[in-house]
Amino acid sequence: MFNIILVGPPGSGKGTQAERLIQRYGFISIALGALLRQEMAENGPNKKLIESYINSGQLVPDSLSLQLITQLVEAQPTDGLLLFDGFPRTLAQATFLDNFLTEYQTKIDGVIFLDVSSEHLLKRLKHRATIEARSDDQDDSKIKTRMQIYQEETLPILNYYKAQEKLHCVNGLQDVDQVTQAIEAIMDRLIL
Ligand code: AMP
Repeated sequence: MFNIILVGPPGSGKGTQAERLIQRYGFISIALGALLRQEMAENGPNKKLIESYINSGQLVPDSLSLQLITQLVEAQPTDGLLLFDGFPRTLAQATFLDNFLTEYQTKIDGVIFLDVSSEHLLKRLKHRATIEARSDDQDDSKIKTRMQIYQEETLPILNYYKAQEKLHCVNGLQDVDQVTQAIEAIMDRLIL
């Protein structure tokens, strides 16, 4: 396995860049948020629980997220290229993932951080709300909660990966194609 994490605040363009990485390199997307939304849409067994967290902008509990991420990874071929999109979002999830991948005799090969300042994010999320109708993009208080969780819970994972010399920062304020180019330059170094 070759494993990459794409990390960035809500509205940083992770989804768009993930799609492009999948097209270009054949990554398999490991996107917990998308899986959770799918469970909600399909009335899965955890629908009510998931809904209560997603709709209030909170992270779903690790009892569920770690179980789902384990299942997602285990379902992939051992020679797959995995793109973790939106996982890990906490230090506890990052250490869980490292331990779990070690059991698989694999590891995280690189972490790409899309850096976008908070004043730009709000504008982008409001725009996305008009296009995708995501329940968690709909009002300012939910967006604020997600931003706060990002700052408090997710930002610390950057230092964790920096200490492992795996962190690659990309200016997410650039034009979308320039962001893709910057990511591809990093990928081409990592894959070689
Ligand atoms: P996303 O599509 O990545 O923006 O995720 C949408 C929502 O799914 C988040 O706001 C959380 O409620 C939930 N979620 C996604 N990834 C995680 C995670 N790693 N841990 C806990 N909850 C998550």
